[in-house]
Amino acid sequence: MAETVGPIITIDGPAGVGKSTISRKVAARYGYTYLDTGAMYRAVAWYLVQYGIDIDNIADVESVLDDITITLLPAKNEGDDVGVLLNGENISAQIRTPDISMIASTVSALPVVREKLTAMQRQIGAQGCVVAEGRDTGTVVFPEASNKFYLDAKPEARAGRRALQLRERGESVDEEKLLEMTIARDKQDSEREIAPLKKADDAVLVDTTDLSADQVFKAITELID
Ligand code: C5P
Repeated sequence: MAETVGPIITIDGPAGVGKSTISRKVAARYGYTYLDTGAMYRAVAWYLVQYGIDIDNIADVESVLDDITITLLPAKNEGDDVGVLLNGENISAQIRTPDISMIASTVSALPVVREKLTAMQRQIGAQGCVVAEGRDTGTVVFPEASNKFYLDAKPEARAGRRALQLRERGESVDEEKLLEMTIARDKQDSEREIAPLKKADDAVLVDTTDLSADQVFKAITELID
């Protein structure tokens, strides 16, 4: 793995735990690059669906991976997700649906996909001064990171936060279904063989169930400082 020249901060945890909000704020606080690794898995999932690639056919998946170029764009407004270009096409909104969340989780268990995206993430991280968020950034992608955090919260609190986000975007939400999908996605992400969702031994655990984003941000930046 390439040696990095600046610090790397990793923030991992399950779906809807507040990783994106916190990672964006932490990156802005230190002037670091924010690396949303989940957006990359979502982009690959979107591509495979869009072009009708059978995700059970590893040879087919592998054969198209080299055709995929992903570019992460900084969020347009504070509080927005990062933008994503796939081969130049802006798919920022299309990748943030509950269906793509679930497909991304399935696709992310494929070793060929993880290999490609982990390499891309390490390339982005090679200069350092990065806040990386995802499931395996502290365990697999950047095991040498200077500061590692693992956010956790009760599934009900996490599904509730996602519901709020979707409603704010004007989408209708079935909260019970969202809770079911959150639990199913975490189970799939935690039980896969490669790079499962897991706290790194040297990561600091922060339970965000009863904390506001500002409180989590304060706790994390105090530890980094
Ligand atoms: O974080 P986000 O919800 O956008 O991630 C979508 C999916 O991508 C996750 O459910 C997970 O399966 C996968 N993922 C991953 N490893 C990462 C980041 C995301 O497997 N580092």
